Amino acid sequence: MSAPTHHRLIILGSGPAGLTAAIYAARANLKPVLIHGIQPGGQLTITTEVENYPGFPEGIQGPKVMELFKQQAERFDTQFIEGEIVSCDLRKRPFQLRMEDSAHLSCNALIIATGASAKWLGLDSEQKFMNRGISACATCDGFFFRNQDVAVVGGGDTALEEALYLANLCRTVTVIHRRGELRASKIMQARALKNEKITFLWHTTVDEVLGDDSGMIGLRLHNLQTGSIIEGKFTGMFVAIGHQPNTGIFKEQLALNENGYISVEAGSTFTSVEGVFACGDAQDFVYRQAVTAAGTGCMAAIDAERWLAEREI
Ligand code: NAP
Repeated sequence: MSAPTHHRLIILGSGPAGLTAAIYAARANLKPVLIHGIQPGGQLTITTEVENYPGFPEGIQGPKVMELFKQQAERFDTQFIEGEIVSCDLRKRPFQLRMEDSAHLSCNALIIATGASAKWLGLDSEQKFMNRGISACATCDGFFFRNQDVAVVGGGDTALEEALYLANLCRTVTVIHRRGELRASKIMQARALKNEKITFLWHTTVDEVLGDDSGMIGLRLHNLQTGSIIEGKFTGMFVAIGHQPNTGIFKEQLALNENGYISVEAGSTFTSVEGVFACGDAQDFVYRQAVTAAGTGCMAAIDAERWLAEREI
């Protein structure tokens, strides 16, 4: 087996967290190597207008802002590698990483910024109207649906949090849930159930997203108890059936919480393995914003830089 290509610091992931970590690490002269991962640029590359990232008063397109992040990381000599890591050994020093094309890398410090992916219903029509009515982030996209009628799919805390957020902006919010009982915490249930703008469709699933050239115009819904099919007029559907952190390859090697998010020491990016730092949505199931991901990316680079300096690596 050929010897691995060694680097002092490798960053996994090219969303706001990974690229911010790269900017800080490169400016600290760590010559970071960043591996793009499965979705170069991260979740913002599948959104359209981003209006809540500070510094862009007129808003900016998601792919464009990620291109700017990348240019800034390039300016300070980050080395980029396309592709993804398919396995790693964090028990060995230096850490060992293997890419899908079998390339073998090693590093003294590792920053994990692999993000999370929203779960989708899996309908073709959902894909078709993505960003033209369909979203998985009310904080990001709710503003575009002001005074409109929208639906939220799901019965967990995320769904009710999205519904409550949207109730401040939209004319009506209909929560569509496949069972007759919510999974969300009691306090969130109480808040949502007493909100006058929010109504619930129980035992109901989405069969089809309806739309035309203007975008989504409604949903075809299936009542699982009666078998009836109805069509509802909605201009937006927020899918809130959970997120999947992209942390599968770290299972058994790093402490993860019960939902698979990487556990970090409070107020830092230190994971259960010394020299491995986690930032962005791979460790954040609460805020999940580009700006908070970027903030923790900065923290991870500073933590890694100090950790390497203390060991004179
Ligand atoms: P979750 O608790 O797993 O809930 C997912 C919901 O989506 C469930 O109601 C589920 O229905 C439904 N669902 C799943 N797959 C579906 C499908 N294919 N079609 C239709 N419905 C589907 O996920 P989450 O709400 O994202 O929460 C994840 C974790 O984060 C939880 O521990 C939650 O408490 C936490 N969280 C906390 C807060 C907070 O404290 N403020 C906010 C957000 C999230 P069933 O109920 O029938 O399974």
